[in-house]
Amino acid sequence: KQRTYAMIKPEVVEKMGEIFKIIISNGFKIAKLKMAQLTKEHARELYAEHEGKPFLPFLLEYITSGPVIAMELIADNGIKKWRELMGPTDCEVARKDAPGSIRARFGKDKSFNAVHGSDSMESELNIFFPENRID
Ligand code: ATP
Ligand code: MG
Repeated sequence: KQRTYAMIKPEVVEKMGEIFKIIISNGFKIAKLKMAQLTKEHARELYAEHEGKPFLPFLLEYITSGPVIAMELIADNGIKKWRELMGPTDCEVARKDAPGSIRARFGKDKSFNAVHGSDSMESELNIFFPENRID
């Protein structure tokens, strides 16, 4: 079993119920769950890998535009499995290549793409769910 950080982005938080159903029915355990309003500083830390890219300022505005749902998901091969369930970054591509994916069903385009998934172990989980805390 592998843990991964997953996030429902602000524009689809109102559809969280439908998205939870899809996550659970695809064999993930939702081990941790929290609604949070990110600050620009949190968002910068989350997207540190994109420092210097032209779309970063837009991405920081978007991801801080309302509350997000932060989750720790657990499944066999969880990181890859969650990225597959999300579908490609660009939702237009997702609708062509992965029509059953969450981005195909709930996302709009390559910016407003409904969900986020970590592509590595632990780092993002530690930002949102520091060990031994209950808040
Ligand atoms: P995520 O990291 O959100 O799970 P990803 O790994 O598929 O998605 P990244 O390349 O890490 O995609 O980009 C992070 C986020 O930045 C994307 O999910 C999207 O919201 C936004 N983004 C990526 N590329 C662009 C772009 N060319 N124009 C606008 N926004 C973009
Ligand atoms: Mg990414």
